[in-house]
Amino acid sequence: MNHNELNQIIETVVAKNAEKIDRESFYPKSALDALGKAGILGLISAKEMGGQGFGLREASQVVENLAKVCPSTAMVTMMHFCGTVVIEKYGAKELRKKIATGNHVTTLAWSENGSRSHFWAPIGTAKKNDNKILINSQKSWVTSACEADSYVWSTQPLSAEGASTLWLVTNDSVGLQQPFKFDGLGLRGNASSPLKAENIKVDESSMLGNDGAGFDIMIGDVLPVFSTLISSGSIGLMEGAISRAIKHVSSTQHEHIKTSLAELPTIRAYLAKATIKKDMARTLRDDTIQAIESGREDAVLRVLEVKAATAEIALEVTDTAMRVCGGAAFRKDLGIERYFRDSRAAFVMAPTSDVLYDFIGKAVCGLPVFG
Ligand SMILES: Cc1cc2nc3c(=O)[nH]c(=O)nc-3n(C[C@H](O)[C@H](O)[C@H](O)COP(=O)(O)OP(=O)(O)OC[C@H]3O[C@@H](n4cnc5c(N)ncnc54)[C@H](O)[C@@H]3O)c2cc1C
Repeated sequence: MNHNELNQIIETVVAKNAEKIDRESFYPKSALDALGKAGILGLISAKEMGGQGFGLREASQVVENLAKVCPSTAMVTMMHFCGTVVIEKYGAKELRKKIATGNHVTTLAWSENGSRSHFWAPIGTAKKNDNKILINSQKSWVTSACEADSYVWSTQPLSAEGASTLWLVTNDSVGLQQPFKFDGLGLRGNASSPLKAENIKVDESSMLGNDGAGFDIMIGDVLPVFSTLISSGSIGLMEGAISRAIKHVSSTQHEHIKTSLAELPTIRAYLAKATIKKDMARTLRDDTIQAIESGREDAVLRVLEVKAATAEIALEVTDTAMRVCGGAAFRKDLGIERYFRDSRAAFVMAPTSDVLYDFIGKAVCGLPVFG
């Protein structure tokens, strides 16, 4: 991977727009265009499709580096990689080529108003009508809603047994509606709004994988990538928050006693603990990648652990960054309160931390995890 090119995009495009993205809920289209042109949106696409043929390790670096500067841009990019994993394995060649060459942005449309964070159990339907399939769903949250070119969309199966089936739904589909735009606490630029499908017509060839195989694809193909990449986003934003906090405490004086905030042992101890936690999170993320790459026996457990651990640690670390910077951190100009707000998405993104604790608890007690 060309790190220089990524760093240049981060410096010249991502950093330049980061404040506007947060303040105005501005979608990071210029960053995506630049990432597409540089081949980074095609990072995990196969070389024979025109992509770079890299894997989770490199995608994690991209997401982590983006999140240090703009967690919204990181989120949009990581959801694109998650959708890409499905399309690479089950999608049509033409579409794979478009993604590989940076000309198509995709995402996942799984969570629904009805089944909420239990994304593996869609209520929305796909029904055969003449030679078309009619899709009806109420998606509760879709990152890059109305901005992506396509959605990896879940419904109940057409006719097979199983919990779900996945479809490719394009953004120009007739019947695709956005009930309202995103105006959230954090990740304000990631355009995560609800989307409604009202009799969207797709061909049966838009099915991704087999009818009824959605659950296996969600858990087998996507969850390892999603968990690792969202963890990388959390690690990146912790880096961003800690480095801004260090800059502030090092440059701010109590003039009457002629000491900087960094000279207070309490402040240094808080920063030390936050740094240890952030580094533990990164070590767990790196071990998870190693477990996945080598097919280690504990890979599934690591995949579940890493998202829960990094999401919760990010809450603590960004809270510490706020604390050590005092009242100054309340102001937007310091840039720390943004990381505090942005960090709060990972633990409610499904599978949520509490659902993961249940899964991990079952795993360690020897019970069926997804049963
Ligand atoms: C910024 C952002 C971007 C998102 N992007 C996408 C996207 O691109 N695609 C997509 O499909 N979804 C997306 N989501 C949705 C996300 O994955 C979750 O589905 C959603 O945040 C869950 O919110 P909810 O209100 O429906 O949770 P609910 O399901 O109502 O949960 C409420 C609370 O109950 C707890 N809970 C629920 N079930 C259990 C259980 N079995 N055991 C213990 N506790 C439980 C939860 O942990 C939570 O604390 C996004 C969410 C956010 C915040």
